[in-house]
Amino acid sequence: MKIICVGRNYAKHISELQNEKPAEPVLFIKPDSAVLPNRNPLVLPDFAQEFHYEVELVVKINKLGKYIDPQFAYRYYDEIGLGIDVTARDLQSQLKSKGLPWEKAKAFDNSAVISREFLPKTAFRDLQDIRFSLQKNCATVQEGHTADMLWQIDELIGYISRFFTLKKGDLIFTGTPAGVGKMQINDVFTGYIEDKEMFRVKVK
Ligand code: ZN
Repeated sequence: MKIICVGRNYAKHISELQNEKPAEPVLFIKPDSAVLPNRNPLVLPDFAQEFHYEVELVVKINKLGKYIDPQFAYRYYDEIGLGIDVTARDLQSQLKSKGLPWEKAKAFDNSAVISREFLPKTAFRDLQDIRFSLQKNCATVQEGHTADMLWQIDELIGYISRFFTLKKGDLIFTGTPAGVGKMQINDVFTGYIEDKEMFRVKVK
């Protein structure tokens, strides 16, 4: 199982990091070792100082596919979850400035918080009209609306599958909306899709 992450998929988040709007989706991968086991606290590693939360809608792939036509991409997923793309932002900035790959800042152990439960996509009237949010210590810090995605879910699946064969159980992190910020020890993060609590994780 692998996790394919999409960077810069919400215009407001691009401007908060002073990034340029890309012509094509920015992709990177987290290995299966990045998954934080359910109910474990998130222990921040010692190789960076500034860790950021990025709440993202997560799509679970249900069968093998390559060169998927976006028109038929809906056949390749049934379920939607929620996660945090935990990012060592100071390390990422160093790597970016040197033109180096991001893996150390994005793909380390426990850098993927993923909801235990996934919701059937049939629970949503329109997948591009889903609201999701993240609370830090009971205060809302990020609010996303899938209508604001630069590339919609089906377009992402089409694009990603040109480079990486998608397999059953792979997860796509579809990008974070504005409002990313620091994680600190003892913070508690709670993620919601609409009004439903999807995960709760404590930072240690
Ligand atoms: Zn992200």
